[in-house]
Amino acid sequence: MPRLTRAIACSVAVLCATAATPVPPDSIPDPTFRRVSVHLGRLEPELVAFRRDLHRHPELSGEEARTARAVADRLRAAGLRVRTDVGGHGVVAVLEGGRPGPVVAFRADLDAVASRAPDPVEFRSVIPGVRHICGHDLHTTIGVALGLALAAVRQDLAGTVMLIFQPAEERATGARAMLADGVFLERRPVAIFALHTAPLESGTLAARPGGMMAGRDVVRVSLNGGGDLSAAAAVVRRAIEATSTITPARRMESAAPDFVLAEAMPARPLGDGLVVQGTVTAADDAARARVRAAINAVADTHGVPGVIARVAYESRVVPGVTNDPALLALADAAIAVALGEGVVREVRTIPPAFSEDFGHFQAEVPGAFWYLGVSNAARGWVGLPHSDDYVADEAAILVGARAMAAAILVRLAAGGPGRATG
Ligand SMILES: [Zn+2]
Repeated sequence: MPRLTRAIACSVAVLCATAATPVPPDSIPDPTFRRVSVHLGRLEPELVAFRRDLHRHPELSGEEARTARAVADRLRAAGLRVRTDVGGHGVVAVLEGGRPGPVVAFRADLDAVASRAPDPVEFRSVIPGVRHICGHDLHTTIGVALGLALAAVRQDLAGTVMLIFQPAEERATGARAMLADGVFLERRPVAIFALHTAPLESGTLAARPGGMMAGRDVVRVSLNGGGDLSAAAAVVRRAIEATSTITPARRMESAAPDFVLAEAMPARPLGDGLVVQGTVTAADDAARARVRAAINAVADTHGVPGVIARVAYESRVVPGVTNDPALLALADAAIAVALGEGVVREVRTIPPAFSEDFGHFQAEVPGAFWYLGVSNAARGWVGLPHSDDYVADEAAILVGARAMAAAILVRLAAGGPGRATG
């Protein structure tokens, strides 16, 4: 993928964000956050080194053993209770505060991406064909940063912080696997937070209430019978793709609020017949319903005489991201106080290029998710996930950690279900 211009990068999702002026630590009203923020500042060299070590040793989905070990070792050394091998290589680290209160969670993802393109940074990957070009090394480092910095104020914490390090996000299977392995069974959080690197200027974040990432559906149409199966497959493929309101080439651009992007693969044999499989990225449930009806209509009319078509439509195989409005508003207000007004920008559209399986956690407990700006226009870095020349500004590690610390502290302070008894 060619280097994106700043204008295109900015059009992906939000207002073209320029750097915001950070709040000096002395002027932060909450003394606990102030101590966390100062501690994070002291930790920065260690955090950058930790991130670069992960960047040099990226691991694909399902293979995150070394990354998980690095996280578990560091957080155990800081006194957190750590459980490993949760839903694969998932790690859960728990920090009990000194005072009663609810459980609040932060989720990071561990895995990297297959890429043979040369890494532009000095601390390049030593694993052939694998690179951290989605920024999960930053997310993981931010999770570790939260564990280390919040442990320093443990006695002041009114509740428990749960840090969740998820494997296999790129395959969109890790969140579900961790839930199936009981990540919330022992202690159920009242809220969960997460963030993802994005091509916004470093120093900023962006979010919106409600739908923020579309998620993906999978449709399979099986074709059997005595008619011309290949001709029927062609009809079905055209019918799936005809539901698109944007083209694949426009997936990186701003989209209309009710967009559909549908793509169908060539038919493959299945038993005596053929099957056509497609993916559908739909902005909302109304758009999703339109696609479903259109594909069902083609199947009902059989497309081609003599062919029997059966449709299997699975909604939200990748669940996307849906932000809890009240939780996001509470957290955004705290981030604005902690990091400065204007640090959190408003996402205007749901970009069809991005998806996430964080929605599986949000289906269990209220959640909020932000894009974390990692671009740096002055240095020519555009942190567009999965692009060959992805480079993230490491200053974003502290921005993300401070923002998530502010969100966690304000949600703990808001109270809610306390410690499990017995
Ligand atoms: Zn990612």
